[in-house]
Amino acid sequence: MSFDLEKDLQARRAQGLYRTRKTLEAPQGAEVKVDGKPYLAFCNNDYLGLASHPEVSAAMASATSEYGTGGGASHLVIGHSRAHHQLEEELAAFTGRERALLFSNGYMANLGVISALLGKEDAVFQDRLNHASLLDAGLLSGARFQRYLHNDVVNLEARLSRTDARRKLIVTDGVFSMDGDLAPLKELSELAHRHSAWLMVDDAHGFGALGAKGGGVAEHFSLNQDDLPVLVGTLGKAFGTAGAFVAGSEALIETLIQFARTYIYTTSMPPAVAEATRASLRILKEENWRREHLNKLIQFFRKECKQMGLKLMDSHSPIQPVIVGSADTAVAMSEALAAQGILVTAIRPPTVPKGTSRLRITFSAAHKQQHVEQLLDALERTVRPLQEEVA
Ligand code: PMP
Repeated sequence: MSFDLEKDLQARRAQGLYRTRKTLEAPQGAEVKVDGKPYLAFCNNDYLGLASHPEVSAAMASATSEYGTGGGASHLVIGHSRAHHQLEEELAAFTGRERALLFSNGYMANLGVISALLGKEDAVFQDRLNHASLLDAGLLSGARFQRYLHNDVVNLEARLSRTDARRKLIVTDGVFSMDGDLAPLKELSELAHRHSAWLMVDDAHGFGALGAKGGGVAEHFSLNQDDLPVLVGTLGKAFGTAGAFVAGSEALIETLIQFARTYIYTTSMPPAVAEATRASLRILKEENWRREHLNKLIQFFRKECKQMGLKLMDSHSPIQPVIVGSADTAVAMSEALAAQGILVTAIRPPTVPKGTSRLRITFSAAHKQQHVEQLLDALERTVRPLQEEVA
């Protein structure tokens, strides 16, 4: 008996949900090259334009001669270098937490934290639009698993009131990755205090990009370690490098070192990546203009889209989805934009609910005003006629 993989692949094709990849031939940034052709990119998460910053690249190159290329072992088996250690200390100071712990990436951090903190006698409450890694982590932990309605604190409170679990963990994205809106963290934190629960936030898309100083949603909502005991940030987005960290109390970090399997049983990130990330952190702290410029572009884009009658979401983050409805329409629009030299990704089910396929437009401090104007012109030519056609 064969696995008959072709049948599943055909079914995915027939549903218009088949996923394909493009191969980038130049650094990530506002202007990229694919198959020898130049494009304006509005689809990466390089929110501050640091993924190809010369100082960050130089820091990585020089750290390679100091530390070599690979981590060489897991953190607990000699893979923990001075570069990792210094970055952890700097991230703890930057987030105002007692300690921080590096993970190889955000997916691993989320799997590691939730399964280290929770077991069968516990309960995890997740926003239904949480990132896949958080949902997977909840299932992996073996805890009782509940998904509450998106950003709905009343629905969550009803669920919290009904549970007799030992530990209760409320888990949410800080900035929702496909909608761009923020979680109501003040309310969630109050709810957590009231129900003796803990709040965990995955701030993959906010950390570095939001908050006056780049401290992400924790800074935006002024949440200290008590209000937000488990903060996860990723380094492959606004920081332009790779990896992730968890920040919190001394006891939390020691617990993760002892029990988080995705920390213990994997090779540490290359130390040069840690050094590059330290350079990103320095730039991000010094150059507020990056966030200010980014915000101006976002506001400009939203104002113009409203005038064009495009359907946006309630997002003031760098993630600005244009909802188009069916998967086929989203793909057709993305292809039509690509034909005009603009890269925007179509996001379809199962990543987003059925009927809400969208163009996920993301902005970066690397974009110039004229790039956004080009995008708007292309949207005007492409999206409106196609939207009218399907309306
Ligand atoms: N959390 C969220 C909200 C994300 O969007 C992503 C990646 N897109 C991750 C976690 C995973 O992070 P990483 O890419 O570092 O694995």
